[in-house]
Amino acid sequence: MVDTLPIDITRAKQSRITEVDFSNIPFGRVFSDHMFVADYDGTAWTNLRIVPYQPLQLSPANSALHYGQSVFEGMKAYKNTAGEVVVFRPLDNFHRLNRSAERMCMPPLPEEVFMNGLMELLKLDNQWVPDGENTALYIRPFIFATDNYIGIRASDTYTFMIFTCPVGAYYSEPVRVKIETHYSRATEGGTGAAKAAGNYAASLYPARRAQQQGYHQLVWTDSKTHQYIEESGTMNVMFVIDGKLITTPLSDTILAGITRDSVLTLAREWGYPVEERRIAVSEVIAAAKEGRLQEAFGTGTAATIAQIIQIGHEEQDYMLPPIAERKFSNRVFKALNDIKSGQAEDKWNWVY
Ligand code: PMP
Repeated sequence: MVDTLPIDITRAKQSRITEVDFSNIPFGRVFSDHMFVADYDGTAWTNLRIVPYQPLQLSPANSALHYGQSVFEGMKAYKNTAGEVVVFRPLDNFHRLNRSAERMCMPPLPEEVFMNGLMELLKLDNQWVPDGENTALYIRPFIFATDNYIGIRASDTYTFMIFTCPVGAYYSEPVRVKIETHYSRATEGGTGAAKAAGNYAASLYPARRAQQQGYHQLVWTDSKTHQYIEESGTMNVMFVIDGKLITTPLSDTILAGITRDSVLTLAREWGYPVEERRIAVSEVIAAAKEGRLQEAFGTGTAATIAQIIQIGHEEQDYMLPPIAERKFSNRVFKALNDIKSGQAEDKWNWVY
């Protein structure tokens, strides 16, 4: 690592950890004691600090609020069986954050600011990493514009922050999804491959409509024809058809999921047939009708594997095989969990 910029640390006077019921943690609502902050002053990242978790003071003219120049990441730290805190592939999140930043016309963040900030924060708040089954410390790094300027242009100044939340299991039950044939999450040449705030805002309305129809989330399709599968909710999506694992290839409409990459890596190591190619909606529906669709699941940091039990398309619902019969996804879920809990080899070089 390069010369280390100093991190100024102000500890919370009193920890809030005793107020938290770790046996029943709501997702994303409980925040650990501290947060990491760094500022971009127009030329360099400076003023690295860890302070007690607290509200921000923003000008009403803050440009991120108006024009959405804001990118984020989501990753997790776990407690392994030895009681050590390990972080899953944080450098991949770091690189993805910078790819998102570039697309949104924001300055890159140096690796040392991200990694040293993260590690110092985790050291300080390591008591907040839960150790129950399927629990983790969710980590939210993000960068947002801080110019107070009501004109549309890239901000000169930015803030980078990391805060963390202890979380329990994300999806407790298998999900019902609807294949979306009108709205789009991403378009060719658009921002779908970036983890940019506005992408998520744009997905809310179509997702709510699907929820009103009784589905948990959408399967997004390509914006031109709506005939090819893209992602599911905020996850990459995978199918097992005729014994082959099939997923959409990366492109500028797909977020390059780190769980996606982990699952594909394991599948290939196991000698499982893997196809990264476009998947027609008609192919999935035909396979479902003919009983050849053996598994369907989303992959993402929040749930690792979110099993899909029902797929809706053009007013028809298709039921998928019971979860217990799903050999591949159950195996890959367990394999990833075994790595996280320190019971299996650490192939991505766990960062402690
Ligand atoms: N697609 C989208 C749109 C997402 O927001 C996420 C969550 N980051 C993913 C896929 C899954 O990515 P990862 O496995 O890195 O969490």
